[in-house]
Amino acid sequence: MADESYHMTPQQFRAYGRDVVDWIANYYEEIETLPVLSQVKPGQIRSALPPDPPRHPESFEAILSDMNRVVLPGITHWQSPNFFAYFPANASGPAILGDLMSSALGVQGMLWATSPACTEVETHVLDWLVAMLGLPEKFLSSSSGGGVLQDTASSSSLCAMLAARERATNYRSNRRGCQEGLVAYTSTQAHSSIEKAVMVAGIGTDNLRLIEVDSTFAMRPDLLSDQIQRDRDAGLLPFFVSATVGTTSSNAIDPLAAIGDICHANNIWFHVDAAMSGTAALCPEFRHIQHGVELADSYTFNPHKWMFTNFDCNCFYVANRKALIDTLSILPEYLRNQATESGEVFDYRDWHIPLGRRFRSLKLWFVIRYYGVEGLQFQVRRHVAMAQQFLEWVKRDKRFEVAAPAPLNLVCFRHRGGDKINEDLMNRLNRSGDLYLTHTRLNGQFTLRLCVGQTNTTEHHVERAWSRIQEEAGKL
Ligand code: PLP
Repeated sequence: MADESYHMTPQQFRAYGRDVVDWIANYYEEIETLPVLSQVKPGQIRSALPPDPPRHPESFEAILSDMNRVVLPGITHWQSPNFFAYFPANASGPAILGDLMSSALGVQGMLWATSPACTEVETHVLDWLVAMLGLPEKFLSSSSGGGVLQDTASSSSLCAMLAARERATNYRSNRRGCQEGLVAYTSTQAHSSIEKAVMVAGIGTDNLRLIEVDSTFAMRPDLLSDQIQRDRDAGLLPFFVSATVGTTSSNAIDPLAAIGDICHANNIWFHVDAAMSGTAALCPEFRHIQHGVELADSYTFNPHKWMFTNFDCNCFYVANRKALIDTLSILPEYLRNQATESGEVFDYRDWHIPLGRRFRSLKLWFVIRYYGVEGLQFQVRRHVAMAQQFLEWVKRDKRFEVAAPAPLNLVCFRHRGGDKINEDLMNRLNRSGDLYLTHTRLNGQFTLRLCVGQTNTTEHHVERAWSRIQEEAGKL
């Protein structure tokens, strides 16, 4: 028969789709009963899979049932309300459904012309976020700058560095390779993505200066300024500074205003990495963390961390989009089209490294509309309040000490008994499956981190986490 095929029909899709949505809803109902940290051994998941791919079609029922049998045991439940590790990668119903819509439309939005809605919804949502987060108006698409969605903060920090490199070398590096003694700066506490960016951008890790921090783990502007001067005196070309709003280790907040002034005085590109803590700026009372952001040339934050938008979703803003586009734009004949030639549209392929791009803004648009600004603010405030409550409990227990300021939703703390005790305590808690938390080192000491940012975490989960920590500490 001419119309015979192996494809799933719309009728089948409807039926299986219902099964999948039920599976997801059941998963969320039962997630608390599952051990947060996956308990499997290396190779265990693969050993449950057949060595060869199926020669013949399998039933959808068989595929779905392997989600329970094969996949779930190997899942660390990032969406569990008892997940307090790293920084969150939270999700929500509207985000998941928005992502499904994006999959369904399946558009490739590299150019405005290849799906105008993909570009225009994205531009619009990113403009909304400028107002929602109190960011400078120069990041609006209606001014000299604009925002774009990328996969991760790592990618957008790399793009910032590339644009900074080209600005500093008058676009020579793109042609000849990077030969101009460029030097980049960030703090000792910055995320490793900045180090990776200097590797990928051809700057070289020898030319990344890690500036020392103060007692709150924030970058010291005086030392930054001294280092820039030393590099200038040595005939080098300082071109890029990345400051962090909410470092990964301890949520330290670099002083943006002072750092931005130094960048301006030295004609250096000023990038701000607010990967997780940027979300806090939804609430006016937390916006002090980004005081000075108006001096930034670029800014990155991840709705896929704390803003209920499932991975991956990063917002990247530049003050001068021309610098970014001139850095990354190449126009082969096969992409030429009238809309591009007219100059009236954004072609987001020129704003990041990949050519192809999906309709990633749909999930963010769904989230912002479903929660509304007040809903997002409510949830963020609640997370911060829970973390602050946890901080109080830690302070009151003489066995523990607080290891760093906790301005928002991350608490760094440690048992006074030393590194070994803290490591044992963490391992016992994580092995129990009751909760998951991770560690860092601050001033050389093993330090526990508890971050409250999971969508469904409530006061009761944080209370339970603290009582489990106390209980295990009592056994050490
Ligand atoms: N910057 C900071 C401050 C982070 O905490 C992280 C991740 O935790 C990143 C960058 C990297 O984020 P991504 O995974 O989106 O590249």
